[in-house]
Amino acid sequence: MFMIKKHIFLAAGLSICLLGCNESSRAVAESEEESTAIPADSTNLQSALQSINTEDLLAHTKVLASDAFEGRGPGTAGEDSTVNYLTRQFKQIGLQPGNPDGTFVQNVPMVGFTAQPKASFTAGGKTINLEFPNDYVAVSRRFVPTIDVNNSEMVFVGYGIVAPEYGWDDYKGLDIKGKTIVMLINDPPIPDSKNTTALDSSMFGGKAMTYYGRWTYKYEIAAEKGAAAAIIMHETGPAGYPYEVVSGSWSRENFDINNPDKNMGLAAVEAWITSEKAKQLLAATGKNLEQLKAAALKKDFRPVPLNAKANFNIKNTLREVQSKNVIAKLEGSDPELKDEYVVYSAHWDHLGKDTNLKGDQVYNGALDNATGTAGLLELAEAYAEMPTKPKRSILFLAVTAEEKGLLGSKYYANNPLYPLNKTLANINMDVLNAYGPTEDVIVIGYGNSTLEDILATEAKSQNRRIVPEATPENGSFYRSDHFEFAKQGVPALYAESGVVARNQPADYVQKWNENYTTNDYHKLSDEVKDDWNLAGAVEDLQLFFRVGYRVANTKQYPEWKEGTEFKAKCDAMLSAK
Ligand SMILES: [Zn+2]
Repeated sequence: MFMIKKHIFLAAGLSICLLGCNESSRAVAESEEESTAIPADSTNLQSALQSINTEDLLAHTKVLASDAFEGRGPGTAGEDSTVNYLTRQFKQIGLQPGNPDGTFVQNVPMVGFTAQPKASFTAGGKTINLEFPNDYVAVSRRFVPTIDVNNSEMVFVGYGIVAPEYGWDDYKGLDIKGKTIVMLINDPPIPDSKNTTALDSSMFGGKAMTYYGRWTYKYEIAAEKGAAAAIIMHETGPAGYPYEVVSGSWSRENFDINNPDKNMGLAAVEAWITSEKAKQLLAATGKNLEQLKAAALKKDFRPVPLNAKANFNIKNTLREVQSKNVIAKLEGSDPELKDEYVVYSAHWDHLGKDTNLKGDQVYNGALDNATGTAGLLELAEAYAEMPTKPKRSILFLAVTAEEKGLLGSKYYANNPLYPLNKTLANINMDVLNAYGPTEDVIVIGYGNSTLEDILATEAKSQNRRIVPEATPENGSFYRSDHFEFAKQGVPALYAESGVVARNQPADYVQKWNENYTTNDYHKLSDEVKDDWNLAGAVEDLQLFFRVGYRVANTKQYPEWKEGTEFKAKCDAMLSAK
């Protein structure tokens, strides 16, 4: 659930560029320093690494995932328990309050909104009725009780993308203010002209999904262009999840940050329709979905007026929810560099408690993300115990409302407590490994920044290697809190244990992950299990420690790599200056 306001993005990006984008001169001089892992025998490092252990990690996880914490729902008693626990732990560890106002928290104002929509299309003189939620879902993030869009002209805009780096513009200058745009999900799967069975890797990342493919991007560009309503046509393959996932999450209460402008700059209506209903609409206008999709794959695609009108009426039930990010700081030891920062992050929230259920009502969120939050505490303790503190300062940020759309990290990234242009790196943790040590380490969003080069070097000290994620087409890089830092241009790392478990059958991890995804992910049963083995998680935390420690001490700033969408954004902002 990403909703950024362009102007905020631009401002933040610019300062980062000065630090982040133009880097080549510095690279050469220091590369020797980067090629070898930090010597593990340094006493300073040894004590820190050894303080990270499975007992403490499990103990914190058990507390955070206990029924007493009620599934850690933002704005609930579970939040209070969690925020108090984290604050108490950070104090006991001996860290400083992370908020310059002297507290360990950053307030995150949010609004919960529940939509009751009505909708219909008129085409070819006929009315096409739509049944909620079976045919479509629609919400309005505008914090007003009633939203009406009537007789709005409908236009098919293909994938709805404007990507200067690919010379791509699906709008070709068409003014869509007040119109209803109809879009395809994901980004265009453009065949490689030399081998049409493969995708052109120079366009939209080939097999990998770019941010242009994410549903959030579709609504952002619709808002930017002043559309009255934006409708995404759901197709299971390109979306990567069945329509039921969409209708399920869009039929209940959703959240956004309580922005001062009440989100009036966003499209009045954000919607999805099923492909069946889309085909019915297109047929009524004499159009064919497959032909439109083929046209949308071409750079010379032009928007297609559908000679149809859309009508939406939404009743919005709104409530304000005050939530909190929890933040602690370890001040750097270098008089100058202590004003530069490395941020470790993990979301503390989960799905809360459902009092309508009989029996178990608590979504304990043990793996997601009590483990990551416990990991944050273990890292904090390790740093605090170091006799010699790193040169730069380290921030430990436990964010709220990740499950509601990365809202806590978005709020921090848009309201940073420390300058983002002095924030060298973000290292995020979301679901740690409970299936034991692995030989490999997966980098989500492989190829994005030099942080992974540092990771590769440090992983060698653990006899491990880094590998790309197996399914980049799922767009996992856009689905956790590091992304909000990346969006602002801060180099961000999101890595996790790999799939080659030490001393286990080849398919051990694959089976573990399938079981988790099918039976526990976002389910009541995501609880601490007896067969958990956190030794792999400890190894990952020690690795993340090494990466952060290196960035906090060395001269070389982490950077985005050539051709990445975040670097391109930085450069684009530079050229727009
Ligand atoms: Zn999570």
